Amino acid sequence: MIFKPFKDISLSRLGMGNMRLPQRFDLPENPIDREKGREMIDLIMKSGVNYYDTAYVYNGGDSERFLGEILADYDRDSYYLATKFNYGANPDYKAVFEEQLKRCNTDHFDFYLLHAVGDGNYQDYIKCGCIEYFKELKKQGKIKYLGFSAHASHEVLRKFSDLEKWDFTQIQLNYYDWLFGGAKGEYEILAERNVPVIVMEPVRGGRLASLTPEAEAVLKEAHPDWSIASWAFRWVKRLPQVQVVLSGMSNMEQVRDNLNTFSDDRALTDEEEKLLFKACDMFKSQIQVPCTGCRYCCDNCPSQIDIPKIMTVCNDYRINGEWALHGLRDSDKPTPKDCLGCGECTKHCPQGIDIPALMSEMREKL
Ligand code: SF4
Ligand code: SF4
Repeated sequence: MIFKPFKDISLSRLGMGNMRLPQRFDLPENPIDREKGREMIDLIMKSGVNYYDTAYVYNGGDSERFLGEILADYDRDSYYLATKFNYGANPDYKAVFEEQLKRCNTDHFDFYLLHAVGDGNYQDYIKCGCIEYFKELKKQGKIKYLGFSAHASHEVLRKFSDLEKWDFTQIQLNYYDWLFGGAKGEYEILAERNVPVIVMEPVRGGRLASLTPEAEAVLKEAHPDWSIASWAFRWVKRLPQVQVVLSGMSNMEQVRDNLNTFSDDRALTDEEEKLLFKACDMFKSQIQVPCTGCRYCCDNCPSQIDIPKIMTVCNDYRINGEWALHGLRDSDKPTPKDCLGCGECTKHCPQGIDIPALMSEMREKL
């Protein structure tokens, strides 16, 4: 395992994210599978990983409880524990903190974060008084380092970053969001302020663990022995402001692959980054429906479906997964479920998109 100094301690470059641990779907409330989880954590711990990230809301609290159980087997000084206060889940920050200490079977947290600060809630975090309270807990030694995780616009991230002298920040950072989202700007805001960055979603919730066959071929030709996911980790390693890269590991195969990737300092070279960006471009263009939003298809639809809107949701779903479907599921407007498969739309589509096939694909998901 490779390490990087952080203030007066040393943190492993790979951190264990405890949001996607294996679960027992055969039991009520689907608790974390203790046996499988323990096997993973034991190997991760043995390999030198010393950063463990959880949150009040992960697995409805079971993630914190699981860590409390398993980490009790290890010397408290052999790892660093990070958890988060989520205002939306429970605004009573004093009660939440006490509950978290009990759940995690500890008397302090090494890293403590305000969770998912965004444009819609950052004022709540400022106004509720929790920041002053957590700063007081820091003085008492119950919190060692105070930071926040963000899913915010650049403007709000800038504002929140300047609010306090934060010890660290956690953001979503991966090559896809660097090229096509706001990650580059977020990273630069934090780098300008010299705030250490803990990376979440380096493989975009697993979406970058496999690409399209053509995009993967570009990467495999350069390094046949590297997994596709490891390219994402090696890319993040290039960024000097990055402190710890979290991976929400779900099985032993991912654990072994990640431990291998972080067994040395080898990051992508400039040439390899170019290849990765080329593969990312190919991946995006191949998974995206090439709808231009011209609406030529709409007038002839007997079900009056807003077809370009459905194409947008389809694209969102292919890169962002389930959450992209919520709007459609709750919609009172015609959805792919109302498609008759008549094909009238495709006759008018200048892009030659097989709309009935996509409607059918989307119907299956709703
Ligand atoms: S195939 Fe479906 S989306 Fe296309 S025109 Fe017919 S009903 Fe509308
Ligand atoms: S006609 Fe084709 S390109 Fe135009 S909005 Fe409809 S699906 Fe999209």
